[in-house]
Parts: sequence; C-alpha cells; structure tokens
Amino acid sequence: MRTGLARGRGQRFSFSILLFFGLACAATGPGGKKSLIFIGSGTEVSMGKQAEKEVLAQSKVLADTAWQHYVSRVGQSLAQFSERRDAAYSFTVLESKEINAFALPGGPLYIYTGLLKLMDDEAELAAVLGHEIGHVDGRHAVRQMQPMVGISALEALAFGEKSPATRQALNLVLGIALTGYSRSHELEADQFGLVYMQKAGYDPAGTVRMFGKLGEMEKGERNVFEKLSASHPETRERIAKLEAEIKRLPAGGKTGRETYQQLKKRLP
Ligand SMILES: [Zn+2]
Repeated sequence: MRTGLARGRGQRFSFSILLFFGLACAATGPGGKKSLIFIGSGTEVSMGKQAEKEVLAQSKVLADTAWQHYVSRVGQSLAQFSERRDAAYSFTVLESKEINAFALPGGPLYIYTGLLKLMDDEAELAAVLGHEIGHVDGRHAVRQMQPMVGISALEALAFGEKSPATRQALNLVLGIALTGYSRSHELEADQFGLVYMQKAGYDPAGTVRMFGKLGEMEKGERNVFEKLSASHPETRERIAKLEAEIKRLPAGGKTGRETYQQLKKRLP
C-alpha cells in the first residue's frame, strides 16, 4: 500500500509537470524551435491591442483607402501561412517620412509611407511585411519582454488597467517594437518571412533587393527599419544568409511591379 500511494503521488507530480510544460513550452513560427513562454497567447493579443491605441493616438493614418486595402491584401496573403491561428493580424499604413515598419505583440502591423517610397515592387513590400509577421509568429516581443517585466504587469496591461506599472510595460512593448529585437530574433524573422513569401508565390529575391536598399540607407543614417540597433545583424550578413536560402528555393515568383508603380505615384 505504501509503495502504491507513493507511486500515486509521483504520477500526480509528473502529470502536473507535464501540464505545466505542455502549456508553456510552445513551438513558434514555421520550423521554429520550442521555447518556454510564460505569457499566454490571449494576454499577448490583448496587450497588442492596448499598445495599438497608443500608436494610433500618436500617428497619422494614411487617408488613401486604396493603399490601406492594398497593404492589407498583401499582408493577409502572407499571414495566412503564419503558424499562429490566434494572432489578429492587421496592416496599417502610417503617413510619415520615417523609413520604418514594426509589429506589435499579437498582430497589429504598421508601415510608414517613407519606407513604401523606397520600394519598387510588391515583392519588396512582401519582404518587409513577411519579416514583421515573422516577429509575431515567433512571439519575439513576449520572449524578449518576459525576463524584463513582471507577468502581473503585462496581464494588467492586457486588461486595460492604468497604473505606473502598466505604463512602464506599455513603454517596453512599444520600445521593443520600434527599436528591433535581438540579433537571433531578427535573423529568425528574416527566415520566417522568406517561407511566407515563397508560399504566397512572391519572388523571394525581393528580400535581397529590399535589404540591399536599407543597407545603402544605413550608410547615411543609422536609424532605418525598426531603428536598427547595435544588436541588429549587419545588413551584409542578412543578405548573405537570405541569398543562401533563396538558392535552395525554386526560382521565379511574382514581383507585382506594375501595380506597385501605379500606386506609388499616389503616395503623399
Ligand atoms: Zn525585425
């Protein structure tokens, strides 16, 4: 009896350990590694929605609905290949000279007209949107945030509570989205982006063209695209990695140059 009881307790113990890891240890992104994430996906999506209010209050949404629909259509054609079924992907063009794009936790994505002006075709747009979707799919924001801020503050933020702790958590969410992620997360987002592009039928070489242009911009100004920080992989390294990946993919795919060039004339 004693041994039976001991085994019974042991089993309960193992079960709760399994349940714990089963809930927290999740694979992220296409072919992504498993990682321990303590922040629930629903909390992350709600947190992104709170941060979205802040972004919209501080930015000018481009009034041209043709552009908004176009970016949404391209974005959703890529996001359908995201491994996350619970993410709420949305795509908004913001009017600003800044050469930037960023994603909030759980799916709201933004791109500035300054970056759209630098692009010449739809495949280049897909490269940037795919990279940003990769950050959401990989749950990079929460993975970066969880060691930095208390989970209770993140949950309070998700519920829309207003306190010094939730203000600090909100600033952290926006800070990570705008300043870029760790070097390994950037490279992972590049890799995921390429998978979505290829599945959606885009010319994967659009990534190389896009990052090539950003590399040229960097020579004059450091702060382009997620305000490239010190942890950002060097553009040359990113391009080399992308070129190596592309060689393994079937050649070709759509560039959508004509449609893009037509719309580009309408940009303010
Ligand atoms: Zn990035």
